Amino acid sequence: MQVNSYLYVLMIVCSGLTLCVPTGNQTGLGSGNEVPPLLLVSFDGFRADYLNNYSFPNLEKFFSDGVLVHELTNVFTTKTFPNHYSLVTGLYAESHGMLANVMYDSVSNKTFSIKNDSDPFWWDEATPIWVSVEESGYKAAAAMWPGTDVSIQNHTLKHKFKYNPKMTFQNRLGNLTQWMTEDRSVKFSTLYWEEPDRSGHMYGPDNTTEMSRVLKEVDGHIGFLMEQLNRTGLWGKINVIITSDHGMTQCSQERVIKLDDCIHPSSYRVVDLTPVGAVIPLGDNSTVYKNLSRCHPHMKVYLKDEVPDRLHYKNNARIQPIILVADEGWTIVKNGRLPRLGDHGYDNTFPSMHPFLAAHGPAFRKGYKMSSLNSVDLYPLMCHLLGIPPKPNNGSFTYVRCALVNEQCGQLALAVGIVIGVLIILTTFTCLFKLMKNRDVSSSRPFARLELEEDDDDVPLLE
Ligand SMILES: [Zn+2]
Repeated sequence: MQVNSYLYVLMIVCSGLTLCVPTGNQTGLGSGNEVPPLLLVSFDGFRADYLNNYSFPNLEKFFSDGVLVHELTNVFTTKTFPNHYSLVTGLYAESHGMLANVMYDSVSNKTFSIKNDSDPFWWDEATPIWVSVEESGYKAAAAMWPGTDVSIQNHTLKHKFKYNPKMTFQNRLGNLTQWMTEDRSVKFSTLYWEEPDRSGHMYGPDNTTEMSRVLKEVDGHIGFLMEQLNRTGLWGKINVIITSDHGMTQCSQERVIKLDDCIHPSSYRVVDLTPVGAVIPLGDNSTVYKNLSRCHPHMKVYLKDEVPDRLHYKNNARIQPIILVADEGWTIVKNGRLPRLGDHGYDNTFPSMHPFLAAHGPAFRKGYKMSSLNSVDLYPLMCHLLGIPPKPNNGSFTYVRCALVNEQCGQLALAVGIVIGVLIILTTFTCLFKLMKNRDVSSSRPFARLELEEDDDDVPLLE
């Protein structure tokens, strides 16, 4: 009976495992073993609802034959560096250490900024996918994606550029397609473009004239991308993901929080300012905290340990003792005027902070739409597409697998799993019950026989 039970347990475990492994081949290729190349593109600051409010003929063509995820829940802080690193590591900011666009480390006395970003110290707490790709024996190529020109984990990409904002989109993409077509071992490429973020900051997302102009330009780049992939024979064979790091919201001179109005300038130092402030108190911590807490109804003030868990923004030595978070559309300054008309960095639950995602290629479903995904789920997806082992991460493959043509969707797989599991358990119990019943019947026979024998013996005595 014990052996039978083990067999049934084994069956249940095996059936569970069957539901967890891919139903098709790992890479999305129809046949053969070759992994299709993967191109990851980011248009900085592409807010999800731009898609509802502006016209994107090329982008629509791209996802009508692929996948569209309307909103991506990104990570806090909703800034460029933290989110680009989350996309390629699957980690929250507190886990990969790229916490903001401006950082300070009190132990080493080092400072990070957009213009001073190439010290591996800031990047080495995580392993981006391009390092794993090359460790797996493939090659990776990059055009300006944050961190790709840095030596991370002692690994320097050969196919990359030093960051140069003047390099055109066409030039960036042209180099990537050349590397991919000349060397078939280049399996992962990544491209970064600064718009519509730059215009969003400068004019504010409510400026429909300027946003319409820049979004038309961005859509033109997507059209060029499809043409270029077609010209080089890659279109249809390459998996392409187009996404962004964050959205953008309108700011106003009417919504400015001035810290110097609440606290003496000599009693604190700001490492980063808006919309998430990182403050180092100079002097008494509790007084600085108390004064900042009372500063403005549209600014939340947290001691590092009290930052809400859902923001995943406290378990890192680089997070400063006091964190300020402005309400949506509010700007924190030390003093002075509004620095820019549009901004991001706010709480990652605001839809205005969310980007979108679109995907096209042999691995992806066609004409498939999803309402939302977590941006950290992109990493396990990309590892799956490339057939490389993912590093520990905060993402999940459960829902993102729905976008793939060869995969059972997460909830469907779960429902089928539950039904099969229940059937197996019921069958197991029925069999066990029958076995026990049979054993009872067969085991009762010797006693019956003994009793009969005793009866036989007894009869003469009674008689
Ligand atoms: Zn920006």
